[in-house]
Amino acid sequence: MFDNLSRGLDKAWDMVRKDGKLTADNIKGPMREIRRALLEADVSLPLVRQFVKKVEESALGVKVVKGVRPDQQLVKVVNDELVSLMGGEKQDLNEPRLGPQVILLAGLQGVGKTTAAGKLALHLQKKMKKKVLMVATDVYRPAAIDQLVKLGSMIKVPVFEMGTDADPADIAAKGLEKAKKEKFDAVIVDTSGRLQIDSDMMTELQQVKEAVSPTDVLLAVDAMTGQEAAGVVKAFNDSAELTGAILTKMDGDSRGGAALSVKAISGKPIKFVGTGEKLEALEPFYPDRTASRILGMGDVLTLVEKAEEAAKQNDTEYMMKRLMQNKFDFNDFLNQYKMMNSMGTMGQVMKMIPGFNQITDKQTAAAEKSMARYEVMISSMTKQERADPELLALNISRRRRIARGSGNKEKDVSELMGVYTGMRGQFKRLAKMMQSGGMGGMQG
Ligand code: GDP
Repeated sequence: MFDNLSRGLDKAWDMVRKDGKLTADNIKGPMREIRRALLEADVSLPLVRQFVKKVEESALGVKVVKGVRPDQQLVKVVNDELVSLMGGEKQDLNEPRLGPQVILLAGLQGVGKTTAAGKLALHLQKKMKKKVLMVATDVYRPAAIDQLVKLGSMIKVPVFEMGTDADPADIAAKGLEKAKKEKFDAVIVDTSGRLQIDSDMMTELQQVKEAVSPTDVLLAVDAMTGQEAAGVVKAFNDSAELTGAILTKMDGDSRGGAALSVKAISGKPIKFVGTGEKLEALEPFYPDRTASRILGMGDVLTLVEKAEEAAKQNDTEYMMKRLMQNKFDFNDFLNQYKMMNSMGTMGQVMKMIPGFNQITDKQTAAAEKSMARYEVMISSMTKQERADPELLALNISRRRRIARGSGNKEKDVSELMGVYTGMRGQFKRLAKMMQSGGMGGMQG
């Protein structure tokens, strides 16, 4: 569905391929192409303006990195801004603290809401191994209830209904009661769809919501409606706070405007996308994968990331900034260690650090050995863990997994945590001193 957008953006890269670096002058052309491509993808003008401005600022701010051409750099900048536009990280469904997970599903008629209810039910049942109940509250259309019952029977998920004479909030409450009594793990409440947003529908949605205190309130919107979909999410969110959206019909020939706009316009993330009529056709929404699909340049992104990472290793300014922002993570820890190694033996470097200048060669050798062990442990971590060491501080099962994965004991991982924390503290003090005027205080 992003074909046109991808082609439009390709023109932008072409314009700076032969240049030495990105400049205020030579990015004018590419910015025009990006703007045009996004408008053609049905992204609203204010949003396009905002996006192009951010890309421009980032593009001019990037440092020239060895081995990376300006067009590749621009691809990376646009990729990062696209990911952030679409909400950054993938957003999962909320888990309940107590009792069953309750998902309230809303949407205008015809967008694929009922189908989405069946898809979600199947997803929770099959992938999350949950016992699922669906609840039909669309009392205005008997056909809607029948449709849900039919979907339920296809995937062997029971459907609770009370016909068309009951009150929607009451049906929802009774459905939840049944779920609690019969130990269901998840309940999907299908609400009534209307042709247009009207105040009756919103009131009803609020009442149903109050009756079941859902863990998620999701709105199904049709990707084919482009930026309008984002507006609908915003309108629903304004009157009955949502936790996210399901973007349906992503397999169709829509131009991409909905996927790009929902988060930015409504503030709510897309949690799932529907990619076909079959009940299996539901996928979690990944902003990063979607962005690289739009750009179609996975290997360029990897190249730029690697080159930037390599450049960062020797960039003290970057390290200072990380430290001041309290972002010194395991990647930095490892980089610092590697840098020390490349500067000679660790001992020589450590001797230059105050407090370490009494260090003996024996101690140095031991430190080098430990560091090799730490490196193995760090490579057993997930990307997230490396970027956010706090994840380990709070989670024994993660530490256990890392210990096992790297052939170490839990206490070794704890030791690594201790050393990491110590190094972070040391570097941070160092960074503060350097910021507040030279290294004079270092020996004190
Ligand atoms: P509702 O009125 O919102 O409940 O919409 P339905 O669930 O009845 O779906 C309306 C139509 O859209 C049906 O023909 C569905 O098969 C179709 N549909 C729903 N989701 C998708 C999707 O992700 N892709 C495609 N291609 N069709 C879909």
